[in-house]
Amino acid sequence: MKLLVATKNAGKLREISALFVNQGVEVLGLNSFPNAPDVVEDGDSFSANARKKALEIARFSNCLTLADDSGLVVPELGGAPGIFSARFAGEAATDEQNNLKLLNELKTIPPEKRQAYFCCVMALADPEGRCRTSEGRLLGHMISEFRGKHGFGYDPLFLVPEYGKTLAELPFEIKNRISHRGKALSQLLPLFKIADPLQDGL
Ligand code: IMP
Repeated sequence: MKLLVATKNAGKLREISALFVNQGVEVLGLNSFPNAPDVVEDGDSFSANARKKALEIARFSNCLTLADDSGLVVPELGGAPGIFSARFAGEAATDEQNNLKLLNELKTIPPEKRQAYFCCVMALADPEGRCRTSEGRLLGHMISEFRGKHGFGYDPLFLVPEYGKTLAELPFEIKNRISHRGKALSQLLPLFKIADPLQDGL
């Protein structure tokens, strides 16, 4: 079975492909479809954005398509950066700029109120317009200094209490096992064991 992952982010494609190892699924990235449209993420939730991306790319590519929308949620900041995680510090913001803005906003929040979570909604759509979603979360705590070199985005500021390490200090294999993306995807994996994963129950 072929599965198109609707992302141009090489790190994300690598994480998702790793979760499909030995699942009998051939994973393609958007680099296989250079003319694919740029889907505007203008939904008001992770779920709305993931569904929109999966449905539009599935229709365009004629392939079963997996899309995700994810981000960091800090409840004490009213849920920010949330669906704006990628562009928290502005449209073309770098990870570093986003992290610096977040650190600035966290200044007034005492350590005991810095709970946060990463959220990922995965949407699996087929060219006929059928779609299923799943959600995964990773709970943690925001810290005040950068720690670690792995990963991307807000990883260096996100402490995972069970490991006493930030996501950027954890090896790829561990992050992948515990991540919001891994959790969301693992709920969809059973669908791939049947010939037409979207036929039942939609
Ligand atoms: P999107 O799902 O590509 O729209 O991701 C939005 C943004 O959320 C990314 O640019 C990162 O800033 C942040 N993000 C999502 N997942 C992760 C993660 O696993 N680690 C760190 N940051 C993440």
